[in-house]
Amino acid sequence: TLARTTRAYGGNLALVDAGQGDPAADRSWTYEEFHRDVRAVAAGLLRIGVDTGDRVGLWSPNRAEWVIVQYATAEIGAILVNINPAYRQTELEYVLNQAGVSVVLATDRFKDSEYAAMLGQAQPACPGLREVVLFDSPGWQAMLSEPAPDEAARVGQIAASLSPDDPINIQYTSGTTGFPKGATLSHRNIGNNGYLVGELLEYTDTDRICLPVPFYHCFGMVMGNLAATSHGAAMVIPAPAFDPEATLRAVERHRCTSLYGVPTMFIAELDLLDHAGSAAYDLSSLRTGIMAGSPCPEAVMRRVVDEMHMSQVSICYGMTETSPVSMQTRTDDPLELRVGTVGRVGPHLEIKMIDPVTGETVPRGRVGEFCTRGYSVMKGYWDQPDKTAEAIDADGWMRTGDLAVMRENGYVEITGRIKDMVIRGGENIYPREIEEFLYTHPDILDAQVIGVPDDSYGEELMAWIRLRDGASGLTVEQVREFATGKIARHKIPRYVHIVEAFPMTVTGKIRKVAMREESMGLLG
Ligand code: ATP
Ligand code: MG
Repeated sequence: TLARTTRAYGGNLALVDAGQGDPAADRSWTYEEFHRDVRAVAAGLLRIGVDTGDRVGLWSPNRAEWVIVQYATAEIGAILVNINPAYRQTELEYVLNQAGVSVVLATDRFKDSEYAAMLGQAQPACPGLREVVLFDSPGWQAMLSEPAPDEAARVGQIAASLSPDDPINIQYTSGTTGFPKGATLSHRNIGNNGYLVGELLEYTDTDRICLPVPFYHCFGMVMGNLAATSHGAAMVIPAPAFDPEATLRAVERHRCTSLYGVPTMFIAELDLLDHAGSAAYDLSSLRTGIMAGSPCPEAVMRRVVDEMHMSQVSICYGMTETSPVSMQTRTDDPLELRVGTVGRVGPHLEIKMIDPVTGETVPRGRVGEFCTRGYSVMKGYWDQPDKTAEAIDADGWMRTGDLAVMRENGYVEITGRIKDMVIRGGENIYPREIEEFLYTHPDILDAQVIGVPDDSYGEELMAWIRLRDGASGLTVEQVREFATGKIARHKIPRYVHIVEAFPMTVTGKIRKVAMREESMGLLG
């Protein structure tokens, strides 16, 4: 598809790396230039002995080279293994060995992450790893040089021989609920998903998409990069890692029409607007965007629409294992649907909700486990057939582990994760609902609710709360008083824990597993 996009929109802006927010340091590529670099690096990979089917690791925060390697590996049928930039030695070695990575491309260092040093240290423990190419090295420069005609021809031949069902990517899940699992995705899986996400956002070659979301995750590399390149739109990288200031500056400077984020990122951006004043950034070029990854508080969504000009912002729901998007709100859906639901099923996909115990399909209006089937379902977990068999049944249905309700009109509400559901005195409680409620308190910036063990009720509720600047504190009594009469008694948190920050994955998701572990310590 990159070749086709280049033919159609070769002179269009493809990629901007806005580096550290210094306009003088911005680097940009047209589609012609981008495709030229992609083919050069594809040839460069062949030169260093990478074959179709080999696993190529990519370990770096967001930068233009990330995107070039993403497409270069795809051209020659190598399998891209995105390595989480937050990983440290043990996790790095686990992924390199689990996926059998032979070559890694990486950033030398970023902040306190010494990627080059960690890769050097990993070598004895990872016998399959035979080459590391650093982006700031002569080795990378050599890869970017113009390929010889026979090398270029070989890249073309390989690209033409690939089948849509060949694996393109091993993508590790976020690790929100436990150890990350390597989802093996095909060209068909992610190519179609990226294209269809872009279709529903009505992308054209005039769109510019601001991507503060990590590329190592499908949010960035599929919903961002693949959606952009399949429509001739531009990818704008505001900074290597999420930075609200750099993000809003990049939107302004490059007149972005679309902005992505998980809810916590939008919360940080709104917080910045609160401090800087809404006139401090010109966000008038924005029209749409995606908010996904975890539930979004309603008030945040309304402010994104009103104050950030994102009147067509879309909510997506999905998971790494399904390429990722299964559900998406449409740009013309009324706001009520874009705050309360994750939209309708995506084109060419099937969904159903089942009783997690019996496996029976539950009727509309009742909570069940969300299952999906279609082109987007991964090939399987890399080298973990047992885990694959647990997740995908014989008929091809992927069990997501998420709880959801389908409304009469086909729109779906995600009510939480099976693993996060709290059972207090035999009553099922969905933390999501209480989080939405707590968010209405004027002093509360963000709230997360978990279940903690309790002798009498089995589980009790604990709210972790981040306060707004200037709020002097909040006691458990004050929270309980605020909730009394507004939500059912059994849903009022028994414990309140005020924090500066929640434990997060690098994708910006809240790790309730870590919160539960820490809470055990707090309660003794
Ligand atoms: P792990 O599988 O390793 O525990 P993870 O499930 O967080 O981590 P991802 O594949 O990145 O890894 O995330 C998919 C999950 O994110 C979904 O199963 C769902 O729980 C949650 N999610 C995604 N989008 C939404 C959304 N719009 N609203 C609510 N939850 C969402
Ligand atoms: Mg998961």
